[in-house]
Amino acid sequence: MFYPLTVNDFLDRAITVYPDRIAVVDEPNQPAESWGEITYAELGRRARSQAATLDELGVPVGGRVAIVSQNSARLLTSFFGVSGWGRVLVPVNFRLAVAEIRYIVEHSGAEVLLVDPDLRHLVDEVDCKRTFVLGEDDDKIWGSKADPEPWAGDEGATATINYTSGTTARPKGVQLTHRNLWLNATVFGWQASVSDRDVYLHTLPMFHANGWGHPYTATGMGATHIVLRQVDGTEILKRIEKHGVTYLCAAPAVVTAALDGAKTWEGEIPGRDRVRIIVAGAPPPTRTIERVREELGWEFIQIYGLTETAPLLTMSRMRAEWDALDPHQQAVNLGRAGAPAVGVRMMIDDEGEVLAQSNHNLEAYWENPEATADALAGNWFHTGDGGTFEDGYITIADRKKDVIITGGENVSSIEVEDALSSHPAVREVAVIGIPDDKWGELITALVVLDPDEEPVDEAGLIAHCREHLAGYKCPKRIEFRDELARTATGKLQKFKLRQPFWEGHDRQVN
Ligand code: AMP
Repeated sequence: MFYPLTVNDFLDRAITVYPDRIAVVDEPNQPAESWGEITYAELGRRARSQAATLDELGVPVGGRVAIVSQNSARLLTSFFGVSGWGRVLVPVNFRLAVAEIRYIVEHSGAEVLLVDPDLRHLVDEVDCKRTFVLGEDDDKIWGSKADPEPWAGDEGATATINYTSGTTARPKGVQLTHRNLWLNATVFGWQASVSDRDVYLHTLPMFHANGWGHPYTATGMGATHIVLRQVDGTEILKRIEKHGVTYLCAAPAVVTAALDGAKTWEGEIPGRDRVRIIVAGAPPPTRTIERVREELGWEFIQIYGLTETAPLLTMSRMRAEWDALDPHQQAVNLGRAGAPAVGVRMMIDDEGEVLAQSNHNLEAYWENPEATADALAGNWFHTGDGGTFEDGYITIADRKKDVIITGGENVSSIEVEDALSSHPAVREVAVIGIPDDKWGELITALVVLDPDEEPVDEAGLIAHCREHLAGYKCPKRIEFRDELARTATGKLQKFKLRQPFWEGHDRQVN
C-alpha cells in the first residue's frame, strides 16, 4: 500500500491523540493580539479555516502564499493551513529590506502575502494580489467556517519555498517537497529523541529552513510549542523556567546569548539536566560546548545541514563510547559537525567539498534550472562547504562558496559587494567574513576608492548599504585599501584577503 507522506500527518496525529493538550503558547509581547494558549484541536480548526479562506480567495493547489513574520502562533499555523491543503508556503526572512522582499514575492509568484503588523508598510510597498496584516485581518484569514476542499495529498508536491542567500547576488528559492519535510522531521525527531513529553522553545526563526522542521516534528509528537518572538538570553532562561521547556534549537550566537544571560541569573539555571540544545549554523567553539554542559547543565547536540537539505545531514551527540572520556575530550568530539543521519549518505570530493545524498535534499531551486543542475550535479547535493569525513564523522573546515554566516544567517558576499559597488566613490571591493566572538563572522568590506570621485567614509558607505540591504547584511567594518590581491586573470584572491584575519585559527569558518 502506498500512502503519501504529507505535513498533514503531523497535525492529524496531534489532533487525534492529543486534542486537549496545549499545542501552542503564543508570544505574549507582540504587536498583534496574542493567541495565548491554544490546544491541538484548536490549532487544527484554525489550519482548516485558513485553508478554507484560501479556497474562497481562489488560490489553487500549488499556489504560493508568502508570509513575512517574526515567530508567532499565526506563522506556525500557516505551516499547516497553507501546505496541508496543497498550497506552497513561502516563509520570508522578516529582516530583509523591502526591495529584497519585493523580489521574493514576485519571483515566487505569491498570490497572497501575510505580513506581521510591524511590517504593515509592506502592504503599500510590495505588489501582491492580496495582502493581509496578521492580527488586524485575522477574521479574514481565520474567519471561514467552511470545510476546506479536501486535498488528496502528493508527497512529491512542493510544500515550502525557502529563499536563501547563496553564492549569487539574488537569493534562490529552495523547493522542499512534503516528502523532504516529512523525512527530515521524523529522522530529526527520532535522533534528537523528541517525544510527547517535550516542550519546544522556538528560539530559531520559523522562516529559517522552516525552523529546521520542528513545527512538524514537535506537532507530530504532540509536544507543546512555546513561541519566542525576540531572542534574548535572560528571556530564554525565563521561558525555559516558566514553561518547563525541554529542547530548543539555536545558532551559536543564541548559545552565547543564553550563556550571557546565565551570568546574571540568580539561583539554579532553568532546565539543568533536562534541556537539550541543538546547535548549527557554524562550528561552535569547544569552549562554548564545555560551558553549555558545565554552566547550564544542558545536553549539547550539534547538527549540520543547509536550507537545501531541509536541513538535517549530520548529528553530533554524546554516545556510550565517549562516557569515560574527560569533559574536554567529549566537547572536542561534539565539536565535529556530526555523523550522517539515518538515510543520509555523504562523501568528500577531490576538491574537499562535502557532498550529500538524502531524501530530504531539495527538489530544485524555484525557476532556476541552472543553479539546480549545478547543486545536484552527479546526483549529489553540493554543499559548498569544505570538510573531512573521518571515523564516520564530518568536520566542516572551510567554505568553498562565497557566503558569510553572521549571527546564524547566510549572507552572500556578492550581494554586499553589489550594493557597495553601486556607490560612485567605490572602485573595487571585496567582502569577506572575519572571526568575531559575538557574530561568529563579521561582515568586512575591503574597499578601494576612486580618486576622481568625492570621497566617502565608513559611515557613509554603511548608510549607502542600508538603502539596499537588510541591516544584518551590511558591513560592520570597512577597511580602505590602495589595491586588492588578484590573480593573473584579475579574479579577486579572497583567500589571501582573508588570511591575515584568520591567522591562528585552525579552521576557516567560525
Ligand atoms: P542555511 O542554509 O542558511 O541554513 O546555511 C547553511 C550553511 O550553514 C552550511 O552550508 C554551512 O556553511 C553552515 N553550517 C550549518 N551548520 C553548520 C555546522 N554545524 N558547522 C559548520 N557550518 C555549519
